[in-house]
Amino acid sequence: MRDPIHCWLVQGEGRNILVDTGMADLPLIERRLKVQGTGGGHEGLRSALAEHGLTPDDIGHVVLTHMHFDHADNLDLFPNACVVVQRRELMAAIDPVPSQRIYYWQTTIDNLIARKRPNQLVLVDGDHDLFPGIRLLSVPSHTEGMQVVIVSTEKGRAALVSDLGDHYRYWYPADPRATDRPQRSLTGAFLTGNIRSESERDWQKAMRRVLDNSDIVVPAHDFRIPRSIPDEWFAIPESTAGDLAHVPPQPPSN
Ligand SMILES: [Zn+2]
Repeated sequence: MRDPIHCWLVQGEGRNILVDTGMADLPLIERRLKVQGTGGGHEGLRSALAEHGLTPDDIGHVVLTHMHFDHADNLDLFPNACVVVQRRELMAAIDPVPSQRIYYWQTTIDNLIARKRPNQLVLVDGDHDLFPGIRLLSVPSHTEGMQVVIVSTEKGRAALVSDLGDHYRYWYPADPRATDRPQRSLTGAFLTGNIRSESERDWQKAMRRVLDNSDIVVPAHDFRIPRSIPDEWFAIPESTAGDLAHVPPQPPSN
């Protein structure tokens, strides 16, 4: 499996909000998970923020879509930011469904527990209007306390859907623009992931609710997500080209 891991900087009205904080430094990930990669860690975040003229100290709020290790590490870079997470997700991280124990790392839990309320940690129960134009939708599915961030933009309401459907093919499983294996039986429905805490029906309902409340879907781990969204981009790219998720790793050349 090869996936990018996106974090999102949301700016408006003088606020800098980070949605998800990504994964630990690659050497640690490589040791623990026996995978290879590039980027990540403090350095990855610092350099990405620097491209916007920011340092970690400029981030006022961190919204965690959920607390899996690839979305919620590096919190120590933001000691003064206010972290916003669903109360149910924190409980799920402390006492996860057994199949998800490996995805919740102690560093994330320890960091959140040590934060002072309410300036450094806000625990949210259900849907929540964080600021005008920034809405959190509670969508138990992939995890018990999963939340999707809906951001009002000039182009429409963008849903940062995280792992509720981490590639376009989950949202548009019958659409050849989204997948090279369109499934007609899933017309009008969604593909759900197999890492989940809730039932498939609950997951389907959650995705429907997100589409009903947004105009643009931004999955967490699709290679086609551009680093900045071009003007003509509205929902899904015109072809599956560029999404490496389905491409089997090439055998070594020698
Ligand atoms: Zn996840």
